[in-house]
Amino acid sequence: LVSLSHARKSFGKTEVLKDISLSVEQGQVVAIIGPSGGGKSTLLRCMTLLETLDGGSLSYGDLAVATDNGSGSVYGGKAVLSQAKTRFGLVFQNFNLFPHYTVLKNVTDAPLSVQKRPKDQVMAQAHELLVKMGLERKENMVPCELSGGQQQRVAIARALALNPDVLFFDEPTSALDPELTKGVLKVIRDLADEHMTMVIVTHEMSFARDVADHIIFMDGGYIVEEGPAEQVINNPQQERTKLFLANYG
Ligand code: ATP
Ligand code: MG
Repeated sequence: LVSLSHARKSFGKTEVLKDISLSVEQGQVVAIIGPSGGGKSTLLRCMTLLETLDGGSLSYGDLAVATDNGSGSVYGGKAVLSQAKTRFGLVFQNFNLFPHYTVLKNVTDAPLSVQKRPKDQVMAQAHELLVKMGLERKENMVPCELSGGQQQRVAIARALALNPDVLFFDEPTSALDPELTKGVLKVIRDLADEHMTMVIVTHEMSFARDVADHIIFMDGGYIVEEGPAEQVINNPQQERTKLFLANYG
């Protein structure tokens, strides 16, 4: 569904992604863990076209977004990029909702104005998604009237409203207190049960072990270790992984 091969990315002289290859299969939940500064957000930003790769290739299914010609990444044209952008959704740490839009408008805006889908269909889907997120009575509120957990669930509904093939999350609960975190993790868990394809950067180790099929441990711009969730969390092979996990009790 998504495939990244030999990805490299630098900011100035700092090489943040050194040689990252990974693929995400339909229905798979992949968790990315690792210490601060290890390149997790940069990896997600490159996969969601918010940053461009310096080297390596990226594809969404049969769509070649970037290929490597031997001296660096070469991106497809506008049509390819805009098509690729319809294939994924992205949920950030800080919700990034439109502050002056109601909950309903946050969810329906892009399907109506970007995807130009019929209004009755978009509205019906939005109501359904908001019920699923436990927000049915919040449709006409604006984000600042909601708790952080509720705002994050609006952000998830908004991403789902675009019918993406895959959802990316960058530390979706790290701005929330433990009580609000639970509600957001439950929503993600429910999506996993429905076999939504997801890539989740998280510091919630027990959540990663329970929900992810595959865990990637990243440090220093490399994938240090990866494998089935149980194995990486309960029985890590690399010293670096053991040390990192030990700090999480
Ligand atoms: P955290 O767990 O703290 O979110 P991370 O694994 O997501 O960390 P990144 O945010 O990807 O790490 O950052 C990796 C490295 O890249 C850091 O050293 C950071 O300072 C650097 N970096 C990230 N974005 C930029 C940027 N736009 N310009 C310059 N340097 C950047
Ligand atoms: Mg980050």
